[in-house]
Amino acid sequence: MKLKDTEYTAEEIKEMADKYMISTFERFDFLAESGKEQYLYDEKGEKYLDFYAGIAVNSAGNCNERVVDAVVQQAKTLMQTFNYPYTIPQALLAKKVCETIGMDKIFYQNSGTEANEAMIKMARKYGIEKYGPNKYHIVTAKMGFHGRTFGAMSATGQPGNGCQIGFGPMTYGFSYAPYNDLQAFKDACTENTIAIMVEPVQGEGGVHLATKEFLVGLREFCDEKGMLLLLDEVQTGWCRTGEVMSYMHYGIKPDIVSMAKALGGGMPIGAICATREVAKAFSEGSHGTTFGGHPVCCAAALAEVNELLERDLAGNAAEMGDYFAEKLKTIPHVKDVRHQGLLVGVEFDETVNAVDVKHGCIDRHLLVTAIGSSIIRMVPPLIIDEKDCDTAVDIIRDTVKCLSAEVA
Ligand code: PLP
Repeated sequence: MKLKDTEYTAEEIKEMADKYMISTFERFDFLAESGKEQYLYDEKGEKYLDFYAGIAVNSAGNCNERVVDAVVQQAKTLMQTFNYPYTIPQALLAKKVCETIGMDKIFYQNSGTEANEAMIKMARKYGIEKYGPNKYHIVTAKMGFHGRTFGAMSATGQPGNGCQIGFGPMTYGFSYAPYNDLQAFKDACTENTIAIMVEPVQGEGGVHLATKEFLVGLREFCDEKGMLLLLDEVQTGWCRTGEVMSYMHYGIKPDIVSMAKALGGGMPIGAICATREVAKAFSEGSHGTTFGGHPVCCAAALAEVNELLERDLAGNAAEMGDYFAEKLKTIPHVKDVRHQGLLVGVEFDETVNAVDVKHGCIDRHLLVTAIGSSIIRMVPPLIIDEKDCDTAVDIIRDTVKCLSAEVA
């Protein structure tokens, strides 16, 4: 059967992709032809319950109508102008984001890793200008993840992990300390340290939540030493965790926060927000971007943010996250369920391989991702209800049951 609007079958498209594309991804063996709300559909129109949402991206649902309308409208009006003229979507989004999350200034980028590059650059420039040329050092967390460009990759505290192997040397100026170990972070700081940079929840690292003592402790320590607290909220930001930003759970504010993923509702956009004082480190010509602040992406982001806030999808994420986690704990061989809102990690005991669970779930039309061989991560659209959670739990339970029977 030829795919809609093409002269090719699904198999031919997959072969074409394998032949011509450089792939660094373990592909799901299905072709996503369309998406709507919490579902993706393959070429046969078969429905998949989408519990990965482009990895924490499509938070207001796949192809959310308000976001799609904003994209179409903006694309018809003005697409790209570089950052010389003022544009309406950029300004409207800047005001909305800054006022919503209590920060002063925003700088637009195109992705999470690029937002983190900007965050690192801003922190270094602030430090060097304020304290002198040696004040560039940043302490980050072991098992964190900040992206795949050189600064963000070097900030990623996983030496020896696949994302760094073969790409050395890393950029110097970073040290790593164990997550949630406040004393170790303090000990890792030197007279050259300008900032501490962490995720409030380590997503790629296996869904580990920062303790309140740790994050509040880091904030106090940074204040005491005149250092900056940088939070990477690329995965946790924009309602995923049950608050608009994860740091709101902890009653603290960062000096700079990075965001991407959910911000654009499916369109590529990243950003950093900073306090007025720290933001001054970037001045004319010191940093730049061709596509960052793209009017279409900003229009999409404004629609997504409005949708998330007006429908209180943070509230739904909090409620559904608790409901889902309780149900997941009843599945045999589940050793631990960790979550903040709908950023959910399920860890299995050694008798069950998470990669097999992932494949079994996909066969049963539930889309999840695996982290290593013991954890599956689920980051569904924040519009899901109890019925969707029940369906997902039934599918995981059935998959685990079949895998255990195979082993026995
Ligand atoms: N930071 C965190 C916490 C992430 O989870 C990710 C991606 O998973 C990134 C940065 C990199 O974002 P991107 O893939 O948009 O470059």
